[in-house]
Amino acid sequence: MITRGPEETKKFAGELAKKILKTPLLKEKGAFAVGLKGDLGGGKTTFVQGFAKGLGIKEKITSPTFSIFKIYKLKSGSYKLLYHFDCYRIENPEEVLPLGFKEIISDPQNIVLIEWAENIKEILPKNTKWIIFKFIDESTREIISSK
Ligand code: ADP
Ligand code: MG
Repeated sequence: MITRGPEETKKFAGELAKKILKTPLLKEKGAFAVGLKGDLGGGKTTFVQGFAKGLGIKEKITSPTFSIFKIYKLKSGSYKLLYHFDCYRIENPEEVLPLGFKEIISDPQNIVLIEWAENIKEILPKNTKWIIFKFIDESTREIISSK
């Protein structure tokens, strides 16, 4: 799809978040994992902001570039926590294992959004949903999402 301006990207993300809240937990498969990839300035962090808002999170979402990940509590529903990872600086997937990544990704009550997820592709579950962001021009982005 094409979005014109950050608000449209946030709206798309918020709608997806609400859809996920309505689907049953992936009890056998673990967390609901979404890999966000694509151009710098493509709108990955903007997407997470809209997604978090759609989940009812009031806190201001900023990129966890220096902390690798941030955690937000969810107010209601069967999911308990939203994890926001930014793997821009990760060179080897093993770098996230000491952060408890396996535990985080295997808990069905977590939603895990991962910017630069391609950097840890080898350790992501097979059912990870992928969303790709392409910079078209100043205010236009193409967003392609897998099933
Ligand atoms: P990334 O995390 O992929 O590097 P960001 O979300 O941090 O990207 O930055 C995207 C920038 O582009 C923001 O400054 C945002 O306001 C701007 N922008 C302009 N048009 C769009 C759009 N259609 N969708 C998302 N962001 C947009
Ligand atoms: Mg970002």
